[in-house]
Amino acid sequence: MHGIRTVLVATGLAIVARGAWAQGTPWRQHDPARPRPASVAPGATLGSAPADAVVLFDGSSLGAWRATRDGGPARWVMRDGFMEAAPGTGAIQTADSLGDMQLHIEWAAPTPTAGRGQGRGNSGVIIMGKYEVQILDSYDNTTYADGQAAALYGQYPPLVNASRAPGEWQSYDIIFRGPRWTANGALARPTAVTVFHNGVLVQDHASLWGGTDWLRPAPYVAHPTRLPLVLQDHSNPVKFRNIWARPLPEQSATPTRPGEAVNAKALTAAQLDAFVGSYRADNGEICRVVRTSRGLGLSIFARKDTMPLVTTADGQFTFRHTGGSVRFVGGGATALQLEVAIAEVERRYVRVR
Ligand code: MG
Repeated sequence: MHGIRTVLVATGLAIVARGAWAQGTPWRQHDPARPRPASVAPGATLGSAPADAVVLFDGSSLGAWRATRDGGPARWVMRDGFMEAAPGTGAIQTADSLGDMQLHIEWAAPTPTAGRGQGRGNSGVIIMGKYEVQILDSYDNTTYADGQAAALYGQYPPLVNASRAPGEWQSYDIIFRGPRWTANGALARPTAVTVFHNGVLVQDHASLWGGTDWLRPAPYVAHPTRLPLVLQDHSNPVKFRNIWARPLPEQSATPTRPGEAVNAKALTAAQLDAFVGSYRADNGEICRVVRTSRGLGLSIFARKDTMPLVTTADGQFTFRHTGGSVRFVGGGATALQLEVAIAEVERRYVRVR
């Protein structure tokens, strides 16, 4: 009875483990074949553009920007390494279209302060011309919550108010994932926005229910995956500097490779039994090869748990969940030896019993 219960419990655990694997870990652990991430040289200082960023404004030119109103030159004011919204000239937008991205932007509210509520230091980072991260002087200025600085306007107040005083430079670091559509134009995935305001998390993967608008909802209508980035003219001389974006690749939703190794070659019980035993390395470490309900297991590096092995060829195994290899060599007149390669360790063991 005890034995049956043990088998049932072990089987249940194995099913749970395999389920989690299929959803979250398409590669075996430490798999040496897994592609390495590309290198990106970070900016020289915190907040400066990494090597793979598209620089939209570096303080020297408005060349990357156009007037939203007529597509002509942006008519905002350039001075001393920043640009300033020129009230009445209208919004400006990037000449290039942008989609999913990491966006860095720095801004400062006007001094001396003037106006109140939505009338004080109002501008906005309107991604794709549709999704506004509000800019407002919210340092000592009360307004409705979904309209203060770092709100996703009309939808999500910021988690906290991380505003600096007017005149001081502030930063938004935004991770933007635009909507996706089905073939017939229905919404397949809503816009999701994460924002850090002066390094403080204020929007945590907030899911928008449409565009941002004033006094009314703006339901989703299918649009391109890239559109210009807009900065709002709300009649307040807000300053901007150091604007850059890193286009983001599509998020991978499906595993590219099974999480478990495949048992390529079934061995008989007698063949498996022939490998069972204790093996010693030159450094004195002992590892053990044991029989399990599914085949062989290896207990290694002084760990008490047993790592399941699967057969890849005669005398050769890999780990079920982890990248690496186990190879049995010799035997017969000489002691059976075991070569293990896993997680940057390559070690040879000789059977001692
Ligand atoms: Mg605004």
